[in-house]
Amino acid sequence: MSKSSVNLPNPNLDTMPSDFLYHLDINVENTQDTSDIQQRFGDVRVVLTGGTASRMRELALYMRKVLGVSDQSDPVDLCERGHRYAMYKVGPVLCVSHGVGSSTFSVVLHELLKLVRYARCQDPVFLRIGTCGGLGVPPGTVVVTKDAFNGLLRNEHAIAILGKLVVRPAQFSEDVIKDIMKYGADPSDGFQTISANTMGTECFYEGQGRTDGAICEYTEKDKMEFLQKCHDLGIRNIEMEASMFASVTKKVGVKAGDVCVTVVNRLQGDQVTVTMDQKHEFERRPFLVVGRYIKKLLSQNL
Ligand code: URA
Repeated sequence: MSKSSVNLPNPNLDTMPSDFLYHLDINVENTQDTSDIQQRFGDVRVVLTGGTASRMRELALYMRKVLGVSDQSDPVDLCERGHRYAMYKVGPVLCVSHGVGSSTFSVVLHELLKLVRYARCQDPVFLRIGTCGGLGVPPGTVVVTKDAFNGLLRNEHAIAILGKLVVRPAQFSEDVIKDIMKYGADPSDGFQTISANTMGTECFYEGQGRTDGAICEYTEKDKMEFLQKCHDLGIRNIEMEASMFASVTKKVGVKAGDVCVTVVNRLQGDQVTVTMDQKHEFERRPFLVVGRYIKKLLSQNL
């Protein structure tokens, strides 16, 4: 199948003479001749995102192993001077931190989408890895998101734009989900990888129906009824990015997927009580799954 570059739905990008990707600290000096950006980033095929800078550094080291890159040097954070997000490049894979929640993620996502456009990357795939709460699945389960629901239990993302609520559908690419499950999941891993719906909320505490935040104006019974409703919709994990991520990538026509590991079963409690060692081991599980998928993607041009 022929490959294509990213075409973003913003006509202003065609007339801006330059574009400073402020939070990434990457300056596109001449939008009409982006050969410098193409040289630096044109080979990027996968943009892997996740919450923290340290996890993205660890992921970059892991991707070196997966891709057989024999570089022994310390990974270089290409966005260090921006002081917001960290970005590591391992061959055709970018590993970029996005902070906590949709608002910080959407900032870097807009700039990354513009970056792959200016760099003329061919068919880039955007992935997110992270931790999440589980719903009726044991902690340590890896969930590959199918449909992303927002905190109103709608399979969409709503955002205020120019004083109006704009609602966009929030589904991830079916072929990415299918290929991650086919090539990334491995029953011999010793943990389950499932494909299910995800709820992405605006808040870790009240937005996810926790009773242990600074504010709680509902009962334990109300909470359990809500979580059961989520479960009935096929939702098996709860995090804070999926609906925004699915809706933005769908809107611009870029393939994307969300792969998260559960650190608590919310049908059994609110507090995350896994030990730090356990959490660290859990956090590496999405590495394994996306690592195998990316290896296949790069070798077979899926
Ligand atoms: N991240 C979330 O957003 N929720 C959880 O319960 C755990 C991690």
